[in-house]
Amino acid sequence: MTPFIYQRPTSIEAALAALAATPNARLLGGGTCLIDLMKQGVEQPETIIDLNFAPDLAGLAVLPSGALRIGATTTLSHVARDPRVEHGWPLLHDIIVAGLTPQLRNAASFGGNIMQRPRCIFFLEPDFACNKKRPGSGCAARAGVHYQHAIFGGDATKACIAVHPSDLCVALTILDAMIVTASPAGGRRFPIDELHRLPGDDPSRETTLRTDEIIVAVEVPPQAANTAAYVKGTEGFTLASCAAMLMIHSGVITNAAIVLGGVAHKPWRSDAAERTLAGQPADEPSFAAAADAATGEAVTDFQTAFRVPLLKGVIVEALELALRAEGGA
Ligand SMILES: Cc1cc2nc3c(=O)[nH]c(=O)nc-3n(C[C@H](O)[C@H](O)[C@H](O)COP(=O)(O)OP(=O)(O)OC[C@H]3O[C@@H](n4cnc5c(N)ncnc54)[C@H](O)[C@@H]3O)c2cc1C
Ligand code: SF4
Repeated sequence: MTPFIYQRPTSIEAALAALAATPNARLLGGGTCLIDLMKQGVEQPETIIDLNFAPDLAGLAVLPSGALRIGATTTLSHVARDPRVEHGWPLLHDIIVAGLTPQLRNAASFGGNIMQRPRCIFFLEPDFACNKKRPGSGCAARAGVHYQHAIFGGDATKACIAVHPSDLCVALTILDAMIVTASPAGGRRFPIDELHRLPGDDPSRETTLRTDEIIVAVEVPPQAANTAAYVKGTEGFTLASCAAMLMIHSGVITNAAIVLGGVAHKPWRSDAAERTLAGQPADEPSFAAAADAATGEAVTDFQTAFRVPLLKGVIVEALELALRAEGGA
């Protein structure tokens, strides 16, 4: 590992000053992603800014609006253990517990999970061509093993086909969470859907966060639907996941939200599935139609084709679980 300077700022202002003072600095949450990448030589920061000594970045609070505010350095275990989360935000609780192992939950921070880098094997190995690591060098995954890669959100150039690996971000997207940041220019507050981006012509960036900006907290509105569920198809790496939230009245779906994970460079909201479900009976034919609609725009090849039936199964199972939890089946 390349030598680096380690800093422990004790406030958000001190962290911002440290970030501004060093061009090639990286922020440290739990380190489960960043330290791995440093060991591999993929990340070589001059300075590490450890955020865990700034008390104003930690902890949970329920705001007067009813939203849950989660500080960026709060661990996933801390959030999942809080009874207010289990009762008020059960989908968030379930996704953290179902999605991540206890070891990861204990170490990983909220901010770090949201900002984690892709787990594409060619990105993680320093010697492969990778537009994300070295812009313009090519994409080894396209010619190599890519059965785990994106089936949505590709563009004509396909400069990068990596997927966003976070389970947590699927939950935060379906719950319409807001990202709260700080920077020398002042803070921002914006929907998480505007944080993660498609690779487009600049795959080096997974998010719209500026280099001088820090995520300080996430605000999660109260869970609105009367039932929700999450299902993940995995082989260690998420191959397809689905978070489903339904409002059901007298057996009819009045509102639906569907977000897919592990299939695109960002959590993938399926407007097509949501439209297909709205106004329909909460039953198996409606769920199958939603799964067909959600996968209609998938682009696959001989390696990734199996993910379409897998994804359909995951979507139907999530909807069936949500219906069962509501007492409808
Ligand atoms: C074996 C293995 C299996 C995994 N399986 C899963 C899985 O199934 N599901 C899943 O969701 N995840 C999975 N992960 C990923 C894991 O959840 C992430 O590594 C972890 O959540 C990252 O959090 P962290 O606090 O350790 O991040 P760090 O490693 O500390 O940081 C990650 C990135 O975020 C940046 N960062 C950290 N905090 C902030 C902040 N406040 N503002 C701006 N940038 C910040 C860092 O600079 C760095 O670039 C797996 C990881 C491993 C090693
Ligand atoms: S898919 Fe993206 S991260 Fe993986 S090798 Fe290609 S450019 Fe790099």
